[in-house]
Amino acid sequence: MKVIETIKSEKPTLSFEVFPPKTSDNFESVRLAAEKIADLKPSYMSVTYGAGGGTSDFTVDLAEDLIKQKGVTPLTHLTCVSSDERKIEAELKKIKSKGIENILALRGDIPEDVDKSAMKYKYAYELIEKIKSFDSDFCIGGACYPESHPESENGEKDIENLKIKVESGCEFLTTQMFFDNNILYNFIMRLMKKGVDVPVVAGIMPVTNARQIKRIISISKNALPQRFVRIVDRFSDDPQALKQAGIAYATEQIIDLYANGISSVHVYSMNNAEVAEKIKNNLTEIIK
Ligand code: FAD
Repeated sequence: MKVIETIKSEKPTLSFEVFPPKTSDNFESVRLAAEKIADLKPSYMSVTYGAGGGTSDFTVDLAEDLIKQKGVTPLTHLTCVSSDERKIEAELKKIKSKGIENILALRGDIPEDVDKSAMKYKYAYELIEKIKSFDSDFCIGGACYPESHPESENGEKDIENLKIKVESGCEFLTTQMFFDNNILYNFIMRLMKKGVDVPVVAGIMPVTNARQIKRIISISKNALPQRFVRIVDRFSDDPQALKQAGIAYATEQIIDLYANGISSVHVYSMNNAEVAEKIKNNLTEIIK
């Protein structure tokens, strides 16, 4: 099933994300966690590629398992970083041979020791062109940043670059996490003004532990609403309370998104089946 068909359907969608293990020793435990999330019958599941220092070796294997064992549609991520033309072609052949139809094409974060000018694909749109020329049947998505990408000159320039990405064959966009829905609503208005008219999937991160909070604050430009900051201040030294409050906050964000006409939500569930299940259970009457 193509992800674009799912997100263009009348029903609201809810998808989850998993990341592959760094070593083969951990493949089994990650596979089990991914399968538990798959049992929640999400609209589709995305599998990251080398994100946050992780690996790319098991992305396709994990995605294949989701189709074969659980019948869940996978969205495999693929990045320009650490990929030359041969590696990309080999990955695309593997993806195709496993019956995977959907790719989230990304640039990846460029490590400090990598010479950007030597990269074959410098931007996600170039990778999208490559995927399209390899097989025009793949359904391709890309990333977008409601608070603009940290390297972009400004929000307007970032949207102009997004337009290039969409024109190169990107059929939908998944957002970076955000904690204030007004930021997304404002971003969508700006996309519409610039003629970027592909579906936007809202990326929601349930913040359920103190480590995540530190990481969010250190790497992103995310605006943190007072309501969110108060939860963190009040509960960050009580892990169970923080988890419960983080799930409630994410659930409220999701309900508000659906209520305001955003019909596709992607949860950065980070292999955490318990969190994914609690969020899904909070929405049983909303997404039937
Ligand atoms: P691009 O779209 O190439 O944009 C990168 C920067 O270049 C932006 O500042 C943009 O404005 C600028 N730009 C784009 N096109 C042009 C152009 N034509 N001319 C000039 N400037 C341009 N990382 C991983 O390593 N693995 C993953 O699995 C992964 N999954 C992700 C999933 C989502 C939903 C999101 C939001 C991010 C994910 N990331 C992942 C992180 C992502 O790779 C980084 O944020 C990266 O820095 C940017 O990737 P991109 O695909 O958005 O890049």
